[in-house]
Order: sequence, then structure tokens, then C-alpha cells
Amino acid sequence: MLIAIDVDEVLADFSSALVEYHNNKYHRGLLGYRPEMKHWWQAWGKTKEGAIGRVYEFINSREVLKIDPIPGAVEGVRALKESGHDLVVITGRPIEAMDETWAWLNVHFPDMFRRAYSTDFHLVNRGKENKGDICARRGVDLLIDDFYEYCLEAAGRGVPALLFTTPWNKKLDLPSGITRVNDWAEIIDYVRSNGKAL
Ligand SMILES: [Mg+2]
Repeated sequence: MLIAIDVDEVLADFSSALVEYHNNKYHRGLLGYRPEMKHWWQAWGKTKEGAIGRVYEFINSREVLKIDPIPGAVEGVRALKESGHDLVVITGRPIEAMDETWAWLNVHFPDMFRRAYSTDFHLVNRGKENKGDICARRGVDLLIDDFYEYCLEAAGRGVPALLFTTPWNKKLDLPSGITRVNDWAEIIDYVRSNGKAL
């Protein structure tokens, strides 16, 4: 099976590192995600544009190389690979950040991923493919992502998706084609149970 995996919040503990970066640099007391937030960007600023600016500043810094993996991700990715699955990364990070992204993947997940795709998620008007488009074009069998919208894009193209639980996606009712997983152990269980059928 060809499995596409998102980077931030599925492989990389991005939000914790982003908070630490800004608090160290600006002493502003950036708090991160809270349950009452309706949109991801509310954690990083008063406006979406301001939040994107903060995220981009961090993404474009060398500090992204210091992000810790999500608990269980290193072992989970290795288990998928050892089960014979092909793995690629699809991230919303910008093209400009892909060298650092690939370097980070090679530190924590050496020789695990065949390729990394970027969708430049904040720059929706560049005419790039979305995650669903890439999944369909590359023949991906399963997408694993923490953004509901990306899972929806994949499911809309007939590609099943696993929604990796985060504080900002807990309350959603999921349509068919999207399955919630709460941690990496549940990802492995799902693939073991469904891998041959996909
Ligand atoms: Mg993500």
C-alpha cells in the first residue's frame, strides 16, 4: 500500500516547538491551542494573516530542525515500512522550507520516505495541487493527516484518510472515508486490519 503521511502534528510536534520559539524570542506568552478555539490560527494570533506570519517565521528559521517527533511516530513509521508499505510525505509547508523538512525527516526517519510533496497550504491561489489531488495523481491508498479539510480532499478523490486526533479536530462528525485515530498505535492497528483490503 502507498501511504501518504502529513508532517506537522502527525510526525512532528510542531505546535509545541512553535510556542517555544515565539516565547523565547518575543516573551509574549504564546499559549498554543485551546479547546474553545474554532480555528487553528486563533492559537497563533488575533487574525489569520498574523498567525500565518508567525508560523512562516518559524518554518523559515533553522529552529524547525529541532522539532521533536510526535510520540510513537518513529516506531510507527518503522513498523509500516517493515510491513512492506511504501511511504511518502505530503506537507502543507512551503516549497522554500522543504530542504529543512527533508533534513529533519532524515534525522528522525532515515530511509523511510520515498519522497516529500509540498502543497504550500497558506498560498492557496498559486494554482498548486491540494493533498487530495496529489493522492489521486500518485495513486496513494491512504492519507494520514490532522487537518480535517485535507482528509476531506482525499476522501473526495476516493482515497481513504485517517484523521489524527488533535485538540482542534476533536468535535467533528466524520463522513465515510475518514476514520479517526488517536495515536500511532491506532494507525498501525488500522493498517494491519485494512491494509490488504485497500
Ligand atoms: Mg498537520
